[in-house]
Amino acid sequence: MGSLIDGFGRRFPYLRLSVIEACNFRCSYCLPNGYQTVPDAKMPLQIDEISRLLRAFAAVGMSKVRITGGEPTLRKDLPDIIAAAAAVPGIGKIAMTSNGCVLKRQSRIWRDAGLTHLNLSVDTLDAAAFHTITGHDRLSDILEGIESLLDDGFDTLKINAVMLRGLNDDQLPAWLEYLRTRPLGIRFIELMQTGTNRAYFERHHYRAEALEQQLLASAWQLQPSVADAGPARVYRHPDYKGSIGVIAPYSKDFCAGCNRLRVTAAGDLRLCLFGNTGIPLRHYLGSDADNGALQSALISQLGLKAIGHRLHEGETGLVPHLASIGG
Ligand code: SAM
Ligand code: SF4
Repeated sequence: MGSLIDGFGRRFPYLRLSVIEACNFRCSYCLPNGYQTVPDAKMPLQIDEISRLLRAFAAVGMSKVRITGGEPTLRKDLPDIIAAAAAVPGIGKIAMTSNGCVLKRQSRIWRDAGLTHLNLSVDTLDAAAFHTITGHDRLSDILEGIESLLDDGFDTLKINAVMLRGLNDDQLPAWLEYLRTRPLGIRFIELMQTGTNRAYFERHHYRAEALEQQLLASAWQLQPSVADAGPARVYRHPDYKGSIGVIAPYSKDFCAGCNRLRVTAAGDLRLCLFGNTGIPLRHYLGSDADNGALQSALISQLGLKAIGHRLHEGETGLVPHLASIGG
């Protein structure tokens, strides 16, 4: 069997697997009215299906999986999903992205099940702005959960913050103070336009380059990019324990470093976050006997992956919001 490599020579060691579309938050850029059930919604993949999917991906070169959603911690069987990933030979990194709503209560359980990396979405350190953006008053709880993970020596923790003009663009000094003593990475993500947030995007889009100029002016230094590190441009400063990554999907070379594929909660392959291509995989997941056919399908699908997204032209592909595909 071959391995996951596309027509432009890019390799894909990284899978982002959505395990649920639903979410309990109402982030204003993602699900401003909260998650709405759709009448013909497909059931998310079950544990056996997830195991088979991960085994097929690992057999053709995937070594890192990120569990995401929607909000993955709404799945009661999340520890089993993590353990199923940990049991697959060849997967060395098991990551998750969460809004942190049950971080304090559950992080020990996730780690015991095999979670190795955790990204938490915290768009601001200001409690009132956090409430405005997410619809929930949970900031202090989440920050306490982060503190206890750090005290425990968990050093593969990152914070995701979407940059939003007029809502959190005054937060850089607070974040820098936060990073002075904490050994974690914050990822500032440029707001992406999706199928449902066009007016919001026009109001709140904040360019990543504007933030990067502020970092350079404060003597933060851009680090050389590392092979297979993904799309973030990473900055460090000798006086700070933490680091800063900037994710700029509208920048020129963003897609050149693409190393990831996505699978939706119901088991549809997505070759690009904003593409129109991808096939259902669920029919391969009912029995172990179909695993070889699934591997062949993955390899041949990669031949269809485009060189880059067309977000600049407002082309948002199949994605109504990032909760539907796992961000
Ligand atoms: N619910 C989890 C969370 O919020 O961390 C995981 C799913 S969420 C869709 C994954 C990431 O996508 C989050 O960090 C979120 O802030 C980010 N995100 C959602 N919509 C976005 C958008 N339109 N542009 C940029 N980032 C977005
Ligand atoms: Fe939910 Fe995450 Fe979307 Fe916020 S960004 S609404 S937490 S899926």
